[in-house]
Amino acid sequence: MYRTKTNGELRLANVGEVVTLAGWVQRTRKMGGMTFIDLRDRYGITQIVFNNEVDASLCDKANHVGREWVLQVRGTVAERESKNANMPTGDIEIIAAELNVLSRSEVPPFTIEDNTDGGDDLRMKYRYLDLRRAAVRRNLELRHQMAILIRNFLDSKDFIEVETPILIGSTPEGARDFVVPSRMNPGQFYALPQSPQTLKQLLMVAGFDRYFQIAKCFRDEDLRADRQPEFTQIDCEMSFVEQDDVLEIFEDMARHLFKRVRGVDLPSPLRRMTWHDAMRLYGSDKPDLRFGMTFVELMDTLKGSGTFPVFDNAAYIGGICVPGCADYSRKQLDQLTEWVKRPQIGASGLVYIKYNSDGTVKSSIDKFYTPEVLQAVKQATGASDGDLVLILCGDNANKTRVQLSTLRLEMGDRLGLRDKNRFECLWIVDFPLFEWSDEEQRLMATHHPFTLPNPEDIPLLDEHPERVRAVAYDFVCNGVEVGGGSLRIHDGELQAKMFKILGFTPERAMAQFGFLINAFKYGAPPHAGLAFGFDRFVSIMAGLDSIRDCIAFPKNNSGRDVMLDAPSEIDDSQLDELNLIIKK
Ligand code: ASP
Repeated sequence: MYRTKTNGELRLANVGEVVTLAGWVQRTRKMGGMTFIDLRDRYGITQIVFNNEVDASLCDKANHVGREWVLQVRGTVAERESKNANMPTGDIEIIAAELNVLSRSEVPPFTIEDNTDGGDDLRMKYRYLDLRRAAVRRNLELRHQMAILIRNFLDSKDFIEVETPILIGSTPEGARDFVVPSRMNPGQFYALPQSPQTLKQLLMVAGFDRYFQIAKCFRDEDLRADRQPEFTQIDCEMSFVEQDDVLEIFEDMARHLFKRVRGVDLPSPLRRMTWHDAMRLYGSDKPDLRFGMTFVELMDTLKGSGTFPVFDNAAYIGGICVPGCADYSRKQLDQLTEWVKRPQIGASGLVYIKYNSDGTVKSSIDKFYTPEVLQAVKQATGASDGDLVLILCGDNANKTRVQLSTLRLEMGDRLGLRDKNRFECLWIVDFPLFEWSDEEQRLMATHHPFTLPNPEDIPLLDEHPERVRAVAYDFVCNGVEVGGGSLRIHDGELQAKMFKILGFTPERAMAQFGFLINAFKYGAPPHAGLAFGFDRFVSIMAGLDSIRDCIAFPKNNSGRDVMLDAPSEIDDSQLDELNLIIKK
């Protein structure tokens, strides 16, 4: 037996026991005739003591071990003289009687500590060392705990987990597919699933009326902090349900997770907000409700004075009231103006009104508006003395709202209002079925082509598709879209119409989705579903800024695995076998 105990479990009650421990050397210290080794494993750290006077050769052996060596130690548990209240095992130590070196280690390229000296790239290259750090390990433990809770919760509700294939055909979720060449079918490619969307719908046709899967998904997109080319979804689908049934089950699941993992009680029922209200009040379909600063439209108050063309020509003028910030200096306001004008945000400028604590008003539009108008803005925005009102305008209402949303989040950050230990969850409902793509110059499905139009809006499909609402919902927490789904179309004719509006010819629709169109000919139940981004869910629970920190082996921002050095070139013989020629 390599060990009888772990490095996290010994306490005063074990004093006197002879134990064998194994693990990695966190650090060694020499003090007088004593040598101390902190031995680490997944469960904790235990102090081992070697006494030169008792056993000089054993102590000498201990003096020669280095950081991250793997040791096996046999010894007796003893009460420590100087206890360490910061360590669960801090009351005891092991008086060593035997030491075996199981493996040596080179000096690690960074310290295996919570606050390591290793930069991002180095840590990713040696991710197996990074994963030894308790801070990273805890994220994976949390991930495991959440996966178990989810599986058990869904199992208790009669969901069954079904695995779906990774090598499939293209799935339209709006991103680029990753493709895999087929050796046996020269010139043909599999696509990796962007999600198991169509397969889970087929499972509904097959009668598996409650499906889930903790599923790997692949999307070839540009990467950001909350995106990875491969990620994990808690993918679910149900038959014979309406929107309320789906939302109830999955907010129950969320409530269960928040309670068990964070001890937090989410309100019941969760708040629901229409997409339209979310855009109007927060300029975002994933509003962060941990703080206010809701948008106030100021068109009536500020447009049409004839004195300020910038506002007179605007399609939207909106402001937020930033509490307690009237003392912002000129310099701070200039910097904020430059910040909103950066290309990433793209505002044309920033208007401010300071409602000073002494009752005076100072604004960048003083000369264009009377004090009465500025008072009207104060009323409209609910500002008090001491508050700062920030206003953006633009010729495209939605774009301006998005800019104002970015500014709102920035001010929330600056004021420390985005506390990672508070959780504000809600459902966004009534999404538009389609959204206009500037890039493609056509309507695209907001969620995906299988989303059910709101039955009330079906008559608008032909003339005004842009006004049609979808029966679709997103689960949003702290400004992050954690999940989303919809009721599905289960009627072949309606599905054909959707494809047509999305620009598919009947032939192309058949070529790409024939399997689903055909399946719907054999008795498709009404069905609905959703998927949670598991990585995002874990990172929110863990209070992380990036989903990378809760993924064992993540890719960097260029989609590289720097540890495996992937992607990489392949041999000519492999290319030949696959019938591929690389353009140089
Ligand atoms: N497949 C969808 C997605 O990945 C989720 C769903 O509609 O169930 O976003």
